[in-house]
Amino acid sequence: MNNPLPPNATIGILGGGQLGRMLAVAASRLGLKTHIFEPGEIPPAGQVADKVTTAPYDDHFALTAFAMSVDVITFEFENIPTHALDVLEAIRPVMPNRRALATSQDRVTEKEFLTSLGLQCAPYANIETSEDLTAAVEKIGAPSILKTRRFGYDGKGQSRLKPDTNPTSAWADLGNTPCVLEGFIDFTHEISVIGARSQSGEVVCFDPGENVHRDGILHTTTLPARMSKSQHMDAILATGKILNELDYVGVLGVEFFVTPHSLIINEIAPRVHNSGHWTQNGCVIDQFEQHIRAVAGWPLGDGKRHSNVTMTNLIGDEVNDVATLSKDAAVGLHLYGKADAKAGRKMGHVNKITGPA
Ligand code: AMP
Repeated sequence: MNNPLPPNATIGILGGGQLGRMLAVAASRLGLKTHIFEPGEIPPAGQVADKVTTAPYDDHFALTAFAMSVDVITFEFENIPTHALDVLEAIRPVMPNRRALATSQDRVTEKEFLTSLGLQCAPYANIETSEDLTAAVEKIGAPSILKTRRFGYDGKGQSRLKPDTNPTSAWADLGNTPCVLEGFIDFTHEISVIGARSQSGEVVCFDPGENVHRDGILHTTTLPARMSKSQHMDAILATGKILNELDYVGVLGVEFFVTPHSLIINEIAPRVHNSGHWTQNGCVIDQFEQHIRAVAGWPLGDGKRHSNVTMTNLIGDEVNDVATLSKDAAVGLHLYGKADAKAGRKMGHVNKITGPA
């Protein structure tokens, strides 16, 4: 374990989107500095960080200078190029670790890892060749979902196979890249658990939230989620198991499908997660502070929820409703400072308190 970072130490954050921004705000509240590394111009996190490096992930010199200027490195997204990690890791600790990144970057590696822990995933088959595709369709059948193994997010890189869909053309539409075919789960609803693990191995999970998606993007997260006490405990235990097995440091999101008799893991995200934004107004210590505490080598907060809450994402021009939303005393507003309210773009979110927990 590293020594706890002292005041004014600097946390390097890879990625300058809204997650990086909220991590930087949390670090600042704890008296820590942040340095953002982001290839894109005008990153939302840049407005609130102490320093920004604008450079691509193959700029060896910029990566080296960035790493030398910080005390620890963390990230807001999982698709960090391997060679960039090689450069960074040689200079400063990167948390969460490489195994957590590698496991979550590839849907097949992820499912193999989860099933090796005795956790349940959708039935699946790996597809790299047209023979694999035929065998997968035979094994899994339809309805099912064809997903690219890597780089999928917000429902992108996916195709639903119905009994009359031609699998060959569905795979061609995904570029014939390595894919996984997943059995379709007839779930009643989706939930997620946001868990954290400290450098000393302390594990703390927030209560499960119930997620509703719209057009493939998270729309709301509501607490408490509809689930039995045993399902609640199973979801927390599964998250703890994953955190321990990966020797994880930081915050991790685990998405589950809930059916009447089972909890099936959809995917894990080795970072703070959109479905954890409710913690900003539902808990004393939110997911962003929890993550910063973990990577800074500090003790974690207890994760207790004081309120029932619904988080709603503000997508595109929904951000224009802010004048009305801000009149509601039960609503916490969180805006990302993005100038351009493009359709489908996450512009902010609101957390509405609906009662005591
Ligand atoms: P993903 O990108 O894997 O999180 O999938 C996006 C959304 O598609 C999920 O939130 C589910 O609503 C749906 N979905 C994904 N996989 C399955 C599955 N195996 N069965 C049923 N629905 C799924």
